[in-house]
Amino acid sequence: MFQLIDQIATLTDQRDRPSLDVALARVLMGLLQPASVTLYLLMSDQNDQRWLAHVVLPRGQPPQVNDPMHADFHHLDRVENDSPRQRCLEVNLPVVIEGVDGGGDACLTCLPLFAVYDAGETGVVEIRSGVRLDAVALASIERVLRVYRNMHSMFMYSERDALTGLLNRKSFEETFYRSLGEEAVRPDPVPADATDGHPQRRGRPGQQFWLAMVDVDHFKQVNDQFGHQIGDEVLILVGRILRNTFRGYDRVYRFGGEEFVVLMRGPDHAAAVRTVERFRLKMEQYRFPQVGRITVSVGLSGIQGGDAPDVVCNRADQAVYYAKRHGRNRVCSYDDLVRQGQLQADVRDGGVELF
Ligand code: GH3
Ligand code: MG
Ligand code: MG
Repeated sequence: MFQLIDQIATLTDQRDRPSLDVALARVLMGLLQPASVTLYLLMSDQNDQRWLAHVVLPRGQPPQVNDPMHADFHHLDRVENDSPRQRCLEVNLPVVIEGVDGGGDACLTCLPLFAVYDAGETGVVEIRSGVRLDAVALASIERVLRVYRNMHSMFMYSERDALTGLLNRKSFEETFYRSLGEEAVRPDPVPADATDGHPQRRGRPGQQFWLAMVDVDHFKQVNDQFGHQIGDEVLILVGRILRNTFRGYDRVYRFGGEEFVVLMRGPDHAAAVRTVERFRLKMEQYRFPQVGRITVSVGLSGIQGGDAPDVVCNRADQAVYYAKRHGRNRVCSYDDLVRQGQLQADVRDGGVELF
């Protein structure tokens, strides 16, 4: 009894999403001592859906955390229709499979991580155990999950913009460092013996990160001509187009008003420009109800090791400003503009400050 209360108290101590997820795995491990606890998140890229093992906690070992932004999507497990995880999502109930390995770890128990109405994310917690979990164990897990879901909803509420459901500006700085801080500074994965008892994070060497700042063109005219409510509808639709264009693991924020930011991962500058250009074109071609055609100006900036979020935003902002002065409805890359001598590198980039 006290043990369960203590474990639940541990969950409510957490102050951010990754620590909450690790705490959940630890609590379930502490309660049941199974062979392993894994939290899977469902990731999407266009029509392709795959499972990310977000937190993996084998008994007696430190947890391993895999951030969605670092995952190599095409190497993740494909979603298979009759798999226990998929069935668990479909029925939205625990699914228990015995004799999975034919060895000692014979039982697999899958439970839905999130409530169905918590639309933002889909996930499953998978517990491998030597014997089938009894009814008391399952009831304890359900109680722990109820607390987890409440905490998760609270984080979702504080991280999201109420109008569009995108991440809000407040959460940008924290997720910026969380998503790419370590990797931007140190491209190699953290060696297992250097984790110092902390969860081990796996990075993906060779990946680069980009920030795209999106500003809707002449948005004030939309409000003036059609009213604020139609303006709001346009913002909701822009948010939807952004979410549908970028990958599930890229992070899309509404920065305020008609400004959006995308934190994205890509192999090189050309690929980043192509992706953002695809979004610009989608916007240009979309016909908004009543309003018709609406365009965006986008500024793109690469993220260097050790960059502070405001430095990157400032670079992307300069590129947006350049796009606005050169006809709008265009993507401008800060890095290109500096190379072409159209903008001077900010002194904080290690270049020369000429402003
Ligand atoms: P530009 O092409 O130079 O970006 O011109 P713009 O009209 O888009 O830019 P400006 O900054 O002059 O106007 C932005 C407008 O966005 C002004 C403000 O009323 C409107 N706005 C800000 N937040 C909201 C919101 O939440 N809903 C609606 N409907 N309008 C908003
Ligand atoms: Mg603006
Ligand atoms: Mg604008």
